[in-house]
Amino acid sequence: MQRRDFLKSAIVTAGAIGAGGVARTVTADETLTQDKPKAVLKLSSQEWIVPGKTLKGKVANVAAYGGQGIELGSHDLEKRHKEIEEALAGTDIKVSAICAADGPYIVPDKAQQRRAMDNAKRILKAAGELGSTGVIMVPAFNDAKDQLRGKEGNELLVSLLQELGEYAASVKSRMLLEPLNRSEAWFMRHLAHASSVCRDVNSPGICMMGDFYHMRIEETSDMGAFISGGKYVHHVHLASKKRNMPGQDERSFVDGFRGLKMIGYQDYCSLECGCIGEKETEIPKAFAFLEKQWEAATIG
Ligand code: MG
Repeated sequence: MQRRDFLKSAIVTAGAIGAGGVARTVTADETLTQDKPKAVLKLSSQEWIVPGKTLKGKVANVAAYGGQGIELGSHDLEKRHKEIEEALAGTDIKVSAICAADGPYIVPDKAQQRRAMDNAKRILKAAGELGSTGVIMVPAFNDAKDQLRGKEGNELLVSLLQELGEYAASVKSRMLLEPLNRSEAWFMRHLAHASSVCRDVNSPGICMMGDFYHMRIEETSDMGAFISGGKYVHHVHLASKKRNMPGQDERSFVDGFRGLKMIGYQDYCSLECGCIGEKETEIPKAFAFLEKQWEAATIG
């Protein structure tokens, strides 16, 4: 039905219902949190940020700072399997996400599409074996000059992700679409866009994430963005306004944390940021700051 016809029929229907309808008031918070687990704050960091000469040393430091996860680079992931397992052994630290499976994906060159897909599958397999929450991907950075945009870009992305989602699920992992800000990747800038792609693909192997740094630039509401991501959100990146440690400038995380609580978020929030000062003292301070912001994010 076209919009004009729909509007005509809607007016008639509304008139018929209007007289006798009784509605119970349900709050937005009530609707959103219904049947969802209580959200948790599990702090993590990308490995390159954490002080330590070896991965084992970095893992020990994350644990000492109060973290629960470590986010790994995708480079040589298969070759590092033993090193990673040994670093995690005897600790409570888990692999959060893998950053990242680079494309570009949404380009007309079929050979490039295949290279990106095969690379993603290789990383997905290793990610599944490590029990990671997923592999981060950006459909195309701005420097992919021939990338498809709009309807064509979206249709190609959904079609590629159907294959990737099936593979990801088969190796017990998932792809995590990451929206970035306009100066890095114009194509996908909003969590709602990533979420709609996940819905269209409709595979447990295709999910998404939010990055507080990019969200500050692009989203009109951190809370609204995470709510629009809903069940598809399986990772979060943390950085201040100027992309330093949380707490090192005025960037607040409370509104976004409120959104994560409303969707019953269960995965990791991971540092992806620079640092003013010594990391040994600044990471624990950032983690303590984030715990306080989480407490302040009340809902209901
Ligand atoms: Mg990020």
